[in-house]
Amino acid sequence: MFTNSLASNLSRAPRHEVFQTGLMGALLDGIYDGDCTVEHLLTRGDFGVGTFNALDGEMIILDGVCYRLSSDGTVAPASGREKTPFAVATEFVAHASVELTTPHTRQQIAHVLDELTPSDNYLYAFRVRAEFEFVRTRTVARQSKPYRRLVEVTKGEPVQNFVATAHNVALTGDVVGFLTPVYQQGIGIAGDHAHFISSSRDQGGHVLDYLVVMGVLEVCIGTDLHLELPRTSEFEQADLDDDPVERDGEVSATENHH
Ligand SMILES: [Zn+2]
Repeated sequence: MFTNSLASNLSRAPRHEVFQTGLMGALLDGIYDGDCTVEHLLTRGDFGVGTFNALDGEMIILDGVCYRLSSDGTVAPASGREKTPFAVATEFVAHASVELTTPHTRQQIAHVLDELTPSDNYLYAFRVRAEFEFVRTRTVARQSKPYRRLVEVTKGEPVQNFVATAHNVALTGDVVGFLTPVYQQGIGIAGDHAHFISSSRDQGGHVLDYLVVMGVLEVCIGTDLHLELPRTSEFEQADLDDDPVERDGEVSATENHH
């Protein structure tokens, strides 16, 4: 079943860097403008997820191209001059992979990921290249100042999109995600966080749920985290001293539900 597995050869695994700009904790606090450009981000990774300044859509980086998945349903490559308050990227290498020959729910993919990865203490990037029965996504809408906290923004307001295999037309595309250790909650988004883009590059968003018909799951281990903090006055003055339990609740409310 496994073409290769990380579980048996971690000590021989290479060091691999995951690049991140901004903090999830700052995003929760309504710090929606960063100073990292798409151009800079693309020098640090060809694969990634994030958002844009003012929360103007969901970001997905795939095969070295950065796309904006807008709340109006459009998908387009982002300009190098665009900036992001929060994004995670890496030069994706499939250190381990598994062929999915039977249907898999999002939860079942999480289980396969768990089996494929040797430890919960590292970061992992994962890619699901597949045919999907359906993908349910969410896209945040551009915010204007004064910014509200993220829990307010995501409370039922984001645009939800449901794409499914139509009669005789298979839905193919990529789920691009990261698996983040629990101890990094607030730095990143603990657990799995993924975005989707269709092969036709015209549909996508922040992944809420999906069903894989068949495809390939690839995993890239991240042993090194390179974190760049925004040099902005908003970030400088932000109160990021949040209660860890409250923060945990806010992250799951903003990222996983609906
Ligand atoms: Zn997202």
